[in-house]
Amino acid sequence: MGSLNGKTALVTGGSRGIGRATAERLAGEGALVAVHYGRNETAAQETVAAVRAAGGAAFAVRAELGVRGDVETLWSEFDRMVLDHGDRGGLDILVNNAGITPRGQIEETTPEAFEEVFAVNVRAPFFLVQQGLKRLRDGGRIINVSSGATRIALTDIIAYSMTKGAVDTFTLTLAKALGGRGVTVNSVAPGIVDTDMNAAWLRGDEDAERSAAELSALGRVGRPEDVADVVAFLASDDARWVTGQVVDATGGSQL
Ligand code: NDP
Repeated sequence: MGSLNGKTALVTGGSRGIGRATAERLAGEGALVAVHYGRNETAAQETVAAVRAAGGAAFAVRAELGVRGDVETLWSEFDRMVLDHGDRGGLDILVNNAGITPRGQIEETTPEAFEEVFAVNVRAPFFLVQQGLKRLRDGGRIINVSSGATRIALTDIIAYSMTKGAVDTFTLTLAKALGGRGVTVNSVAPGIVDTDMNAAWLRGDEDAERSAAELSALGRVGRPEDVADVVAFLASDDARWVTGQVVDATGGSQL
């Protein structure tokens, strides 16, 4: 019997990277998992197939975030699909993981790029939660994927880092707002993880990989599962007394 049997989870950006590993892990614990994606349907279906191959239950939900009507689209798709899967409806675990990382020093950041990163990384999770509150059952979990970049000054991703600072403030304040319902709210802050987000500069470049690994006290680049396991802990009953926190899952980066 899995620790999340009978629970329903939504993982945004569950098609790839950290979101995929999280979807697989939560489903492995027995949750029915909605695998959200924006554009890459093939990747989302691969996540769903991996979950099912391991004996779990999942379905894909498409909604591009950061555009008008994004959250409404996501929830209406979720509501339809969850009932199709014989579930009673509603939600126990929301993982706000989808995000983009545009690069740019302050001088290079255009208003359009700034608005887009805030729309996807901040506005979307805010209103996803707002409109999800009536679906989220008491005693539920909200886990926001933040970044170690709120602790470490990385000048070439300044706007992105600011979005994650906003996410952490959201976590803190929301934890207070929802505590009366027994809902916990926490952030998980990864360091450099080997996902598509970093593929362009990390994969296949031994020097880049070595430098990235050296940032961590543990001497390697993170894997999606390293973060997914922390998310799964926060989703579990074992984490019932932890709320409003930012859990550093950077492998001890730049300690
Ligand atoms: P990936 O680039 O590997 O995957 C991104 C996921 O988010 C995909 O599922 C993608 O969907 C979805 N997504 C992105 N933009 C949108 C959008 N506009 N609308 C809908 N879905 C979207 O990302 P990671 O797994 O690396 O990152 C996941 C989270 O972890 C992010 O919030 C990121 O900021 C954070 N993080 C990552 C770190 C890293 O080193 N990788 C470090 C610190 C934090 P689709 O497949 O359809 O494109």
